[in-house]
Amino acid sequence: MSNKIKRYLVTAALPYANGPVHIGHLAGCYLPADIYVRYLKAIGKEVVFICGSDEHGVPITIKAKKEGITPQQVVDKYDGIMKNAFKEFGINFSYYGRTSSKTHHETAQGFFRNLYDKGVFKEEVTKQYYDEEAKQFLADRYITGTCPRCGNPGAYGDQCEKCGTALSPTDLINPKSALSGAVPVLKETKNWFLPMGEIQQTPAFQEYIKRFEDWKSNIKGQCNSWLTEGLQSRAMTRDLDWGVPVPVEGADGKVLYVWFDAPIGYISATKEYLAGNNESLNALSTTNWQDWWQNEETSLVHFIGKDNIVFHAIIFPMMLLTHGQYILPSNVPANEFLNLEGDKISTSRNWAVWLHEYLVDFPNRQDELRYVLTSIAPETKDSEFTWKDYQTRVNSELVSIFGNFVNRVLVLCDKYYAGLVPTVNAVLSDPKLVAAQVACKESVAKSIAALNENLQAIKLRDAQAEFINIARAGNKYLADTEPWKLVKTDEESVKQILFDALQICAKLSVAAQPFLPHTSANLANMLNAQGLVWSQLTDAVLVQPGTQLGKAEILYKQVEDEEINKQLLRLEEIKKSNSEQAPVTKTLNEVKPHISYEDFDKLDLRVGKVIEAEKVPKADKLLKLTVDLGFEQRTILSGIAEYYKPEELIGKLVTVVANLAPRKIRGIESQGMLLMAGNDFGKLYSVGPEQEIEPGSAVK
Ligand SMILES: [Zn+2]
Repeated sequence: MSNKIKRYLVTAALPYANGPVHIGHLAGCYLPADIYVRYLKAIGKEVVFICGSDEHGVPITIKAKKEGITPQQVVDKYDGIMKNAFKEFGINFSYYGRTSSKTHHETAQGFFRNLYDKGVFKEEVTKQYYDEEAKQFLADRYITGTCPRCGNPGAYGDQCEKCGTALSPTDLINPKSALSGAVPVLKETKNWFLPMGEIQQTPAFQEYIKRFEDWKSNIKGQCNSWLTEGLQSRAMTRDLDWGVPVPVEGADGKVLYVWFDAPIGYISATKEYLAGNNESLNALSTTNWQDWWQNEETSLVHFIGKDNIVFHAIIFPMMLLTHGQYILPSNVPANEFLNLEGDKISTSRNWAVWLHEYLVDFPNRQDELRYVLTSIAPETKDSEFTWKDYQTRVNSELVSIFGNFVNRVLVLCDKYYAGLVPTVNAVLSDPKLVAAQVACKESVAKSIAALNENLQAIKLRDAQAEFINIARAGNKYLADTEPWKLVKTDEESVKQILFDALQICAKLSVAAQPFLPHTSANLANMLNAQGLVWSQLTDAVLVQPGTQLGKAEILYKQVEDEEINKQLLRLEEIKKSNSEQAPVTKTLNEVKPHISYEDFDKLDLRVGKVIEAEKVPKADKLLKLTVDLGFEQRTILSGIAEYYKPEELIGKLVTVVANLAPRKIRGIESQGMLLMAGNDFGKLYSVGPEQEIEPGSAVK
């Protein structure tokens, strides 16, 4: 940390307001950012901690379409859910903004205008897919088609989620608009590009990238590989109707690229915070926003997940640099991904541990999750959350080491000294006890030094391990001296040992502040030692003799097998329902083995006319049809409710397997089967004669 740094502006990635928050988000950037900020504050630094909802971008509009509401309704709904989850887990933002705010629109437009007036952008006309029915250009995500690589018919214009290939919309076979289903056409459109290749060559940018040397290897590696490949110009505007309108002539129907406006959201949120009347502003030496963004005395630190590295370490700095008045990030501590039980966390597949659900199943146990997520933080490579590991870490570390130590000390003090901090009359003299005391002091001092070093270097996983080592040293001290036995022969030495142990408890309450804020406060209350500060970690005495201790409560509950099994069962069910929705695919050119004509002739296929159709209650996929075969009417159940509305089928001629043995489904006897055409992923189409023909006619 450079000497001229007077204040810190810490940001955490703006989450998309299109869904609730899960453990991957928490571990990826919000928790590490919060721990770092709490630490900076603890050592007396001036910090502003900024986050907010990213309310623009295509995922929001897609979610709105899916839920049948407006984008504004989507963001209003999730902004509240996300804000609450962060608060519950103690993520202590100075301010949580929204990119739909007026200040943000003005700030982002002003920023764009500044670069535009300087002639930074290159205007380019490109051809993009346009939906003539919906009368709009289609974002990559709005185009679906067949993946040229694996044949998945549901690939998106930017990626095939089945085989993972990155795609361009024009790569797709049979592209279709996700808005109207129409075949899109290529149409010319003008957009404004940031010439990243040119900016890369400027001396100012070359000077900036020297900072990468001090950054984590995963970020340095990713950035250097882009820079070596050479950067391409990227459009900073998009043909979309949801976002910040482009503030220049001839840009009707265009908005700022979401990755242009989102990082500016940090600036807008800072402005809103500093102009507001939050009590925390009183602690700041300046509420002038420029001091936080345009003054070299400020250190700008962006906490993000690895999918955002290029935007924060390269594109946003290029924007700030070409604007000219802003400081550049001094660090971008990005984390890798957190996986869940052997699989990638996925919002769309519901493969996640949702924070709002965790709070229901594990009430008042937020610190346990904070602890486990920091223990396994994906700081340098991907890591994995499993419920079994969660149980082990909580039970064998928080409960057995930390919680148990504190509890033993407080219970003994309650028993021997009626809950008062003992007054020590004589120092230890037994060489064995003295040796244990010295070893404990050394070990605690060593851990506190390492704790500080690691926090400073944002190695939070290692830092937290040192915190537990302090409790471990305390436990060892008790095990080596056994005050519960010694009390029968040497009461004076026991007073010294428990006095020492209480000081360690007090140090733990301080050292817990960044990691386990709820526990830290609980423990301080139990010790009646509220208001201790970080610099006291190296003091010998934190709680004075004669102090009345509070009630000894259990800091952490054991995580029981049933609690874990319930979570595992839930995930198993999700996995099962996911695999039902995505059946194993069969390639179209695989033909079944030959059959004889006699085999075929066993089928009695007839033309039928659907005369009634209704949904089957509690069965999402089934329709109950009454089909007229001319000579009789049949009840037939068909799994096509996802593809046909009942009313669409009435009057339709279909092909019926008339001699299929009747079968009971959901208590209803199905007397035949309809023939349907379709591959294993898309819509099914009923197969019937192309001309009106009387029901009962044979199909042969
Ligand atoms: Zn594919």
